[in-house]
Amino acid sequence: MAWQCSIGSANTEKPTFMQSSPQLFANNQPETPLDYLVIAPHPDDAELGMAGAILKLKSEGKRVGVLELTNGEPTPFGTVEKRKKETDEATEILNLDWRGNLGLTNRTLLPDLESRKILASAFRILRPKTAFAPYWIDAHPDHRAATQLIEDARFWAKLTKTEMSSDPLPPPRLYYYYCIHLRQTVTPAFILDITPFWAKKLASIKAFHSQFIEGRKETAPMFLEQLTSEASYWGKLIGKRYGEPFASREPLGVGGFSEFL
Ligand SMILES: [Zn+2]
Repeated sequence: MAWQCSIGSANTEKPTFMQSSPQLFANNQPETPLDYLVIAPHPDDAELGMAGAILKLKSEGKRVGVLELTNGEPTPFGTVEKRKKETDEATEILNLDWRGNLGLTNRTLLPDLESRKILASAFRILRPKTAFAPYWIDAHPDHRAATQLIEDARFWAKLTKTEMSSDPLPPPRLYYYYCIHLRQTVTPAFILDITPFWAKKLASIKAFHSQFIEGRKETAPMFLEQLTSEASYWGKLIGKRYGEPFASREPLGVGGFSEFL
C-alpha cells in the first residue's frame, strides 16, 4: 500500500486542470475501483470524522480510499514533512487501500471550475461507489468550499463530450461526515456503531501529533477527552458504547427492518 501527492507536496502553486489531468495519480492509481472514497479538505479530517466507519468497512473486506484536497499546512505546530509522516502513520493504522492528495491550496480552497474539473477527473479514475464529504455547515471556509466542490465535481463526473479522461462515472451515493468547527447541535441521518473500532480510531487521530497533542493544553477539558465524550454521546443515542454520526441530503433506503439496530 502506498500513497503520494499527485502533484507534489510543496503546494506553493495551485495546479490547473491541464497541468494535472494527464498525470493525475499517474503512479498512484488503484488497480481496481474503490468501494468507498472519503474526501477530506485536510489530512486528519477523515480520521476525525469517520475513522470508525473506515475501520468497520475494512473489517468487512471493502476497498476504502481517502483523498485529501490540500496538505493542510501551515498550522502552528505542523510542517508539510511532519504532516506527511503523520498521514502515513494514520494510513497504516486504518489499513487503507489507497490515499492521495489533490494538491489544492490550504486556507484558500475554492469550489472553482479548475478544481471542479480536477476532482471530477479524480472521481472518474478512482470510481468509488460511495463518497463521503464534510458536513455542509462549518465555520472553516475550506470545509464549506470542499463540500461545494465535491457536490459539483460529483455532478461533473458524469459529463460526456468533455476534455476529462476516463469514462463518465459519478459516485452513486454521497454521505456527509462531521468534522466541524462550530459549536452546534446537529441532527444526523444515521449513527454508526463503531464500538469495536474506537481504540484504533483514537490511535489514528493521535498519529497527527502536531495537530492534536503538541501545543494542546493539558488541563480539562482536553481535546481527546472531549472527542471520547462526543463518541459516547452518539453511542448512547443508539444503545451502544461509541457511535459516529452521518448526514445525508437525500432520503436513505433500507433493505428491511432488520437492518436497524
Ligand atoms: Zn480540516
